Amino acid sequence: MERGPEAKIDLEALRHNLRTVESLSGGSVIAVVKADAYGHGAVEVSKTLERQGAFALAVAYASEAEELRAAGIKSPVLVLFDGEPGPFFDLDLIPVVHSLKSAKRFSREARRRGRQLDVHVKVDTGMGRMGFCISGEGKDTLADICDIASLPGLRLRGLMSHFSEVQPGKGGLDFARLQLERFNSIRQQLAGRGIKPLAHISSSASSLLLPEAGMDALRVGLLLYGALPFSAPAAPASFALKPVMEVKTRIILVKRFGKGQPVSYDRTFVTARRSTIAVIPVGYADGYLRAFSNRACAIVRGRRAPVAGRVCMDVTMLDVTGIRDVSEGDEVILLGGGLSIRELADWAATNPYEVMTSLGGRARRRFE
Ligand SMILES: *Cc1c(COP(=O)(O)O)cnc(C)c1O
Repeated sequence: MERGPEAKIDLEALRHNLRTVESLSGGSVIAVVKADAYGHGAVEVSKTLERQGAFALAVAYASEAEELRAAGIKSPVLVLFDGEPGPFFDLDLIPVVHSLKSAKRFSREARRRGRQLDVHVKVDTGMGRMGFCISGEGKDTLADICDIASLPGLRLRGLMSHFSEVQPGKGGLDFARLQLERFNSIRQQLAGRGIKPLAHISSSASSLLLPEAGMDALRVGLLLYGALPFSAPAAPASFALKPVMEVKTRIILVKRFGKGQPVSYDRTFVTARRSTIAVIPVGYADGYLRAFSNRACAIVRGRRAPVAGRVCMDVTMLDVTGIRDVSEGDEVILLGGGLSIRELADWAATNPYEVMTSLGGRARRRFE
């Protein structure tokens, strides 16, 4: 018996989603494949996106790009978090530079190797994470970025920022608009000095809700994998994404209980009637979140079966009472087949990103 979930990754759906996102941007999509392509498998996903003509790929760390280059992927790879310069030259990667100090290190290494390196610079317009802080009127930031533009061995090819909050509904875009204003102000000041790098700030949510932030490229992950970043159907009707990941497992044991039988740790579930309980070989060690306990459903023989009791480390119990002919070996759908990533995220009070990376991250994958 093989443990754990099996994920089917639909590469045709991925291609469809890339085309759909490209229709928003007029072409340029930096496809974000960090965290093993959000649990979908970065190598296969990147090969598919490359063949489909994606403008560029993006990962979080240089170590993630190593795997892509080793698999023969030639696309430009933007690395969102810079680091030791060496690998960027060895693997021909584009760092996003977050400080003048880091830029100088890249410049020194470029000179040492007699090379030129394309870099993008990130400005922190309000995310409070990485990048050059906008202090006062952004004057320090501006001076630093101008310095970078003139460092030997570096070519300042991109300027980027990242939104911290993009939500549908009243007030949901207020802070993003302020961030956009700050970003545009820096852009204009740089342009005034003849520095005009490629500008990108928008990821999935803002691609849909704040089209005026589109600029030269969209930096998109979630939409490519077929999910929306928010609950409300705020996307235009024509914007039909296809889910890329489906996750399945099989029943390993079926038990019949009388009324009053507790199920799993802490007795949080007690049968209210004669019940049939199915055990599946998937637990939180497989990325099936413990927060699904007594909340999520799976699909067994075409019907919804609720999770009964706590999700354990290696197994989970489903209440299949009333579903006919359930037996060991039956297929169980954990995600897909009518169970959307949004439902799973809501059940665990989390976002689709966490569900994808946890569940897909540890599944055995099949690409179709
Ligand atoms: C993860 C990430 C993205 C992609 O975000 P999605 O919401 O998945 O589109 C874009 N930019 C940065 C800086 C990121 O960290």
